[in-house]
Amino acid sequence: MTQTLPKDGKFALVTLPYAEDALAPVISAETIGFHHGKHLQTYVNNLNGLLPGSPFEGLPLEEIVQKSEGGIFNNAGQILNHNLYFTQFAAPKEGNAPVGEIAAAIDAQFGSFEAFKAEFEKKGATLFGSGWVWLAADKEGKLQITQETNAGNPITKGLTPLLTFDVWEHAYYLDYQNRRPAHLAALWQLINWAEVNRRYQE
Ligand code: MN
Repeated sequence: MTQTLPKDGKFALVTLPYAEDALAPVISAETIGFHHGKHLQTYVNNLNGLLPGSPFEGLPLEEIVQKSEGGIFNNAGQILNHNLYFTQFAAPKEGNAPVGEIAAAIDAQFGSFEAFKAEFEKKGATLFGSGWVWLAADKEGKLQITQETNAGNPITKGLTPLLTFDVWEHAYYLDYQNRRPAHLAALWQLINWAEVNRRYQE
């Protein structure tokens, strides 16, 4: 996958490829403002504060996530997770569905897009506490759905992360309150499958 390098020793807040209100009503501008502008910015600030003098100074973000633990892992993991999360979305689209090689791989391995969505949503809804549900690929291109707690990312298991739903409450509480399953079911309208397919082909 693409390597994310620090500039002058610092990681930057990822730029959103859409306006803050572009994902409404599934994800409101208010949620984006807090989630991207406050939560993610805090992880970026924390990591930039922890790196100087550590063995991870100057390394790509992906390598830090693979090799670190404790506070550096938690903040680096959350930056990588949110970078992948925020750059996988586009404006809501009715009947939104996978395209390209990833569409064929999903059909081949899960039976259908509907069956895949059901399993993905179930893994997101049943993840206890805070974490992430992921679609990831192994080196042969075989897909799997993984549940990761807290700052976890399937990259630590040697897999390539392709698509993710954030199930931390800060991702949905302003818009859906406690209704995590309803939020997860609505997120499919926002997935930019061309971007997910690009990550798969990489
Ligand atoms: Mn989050």
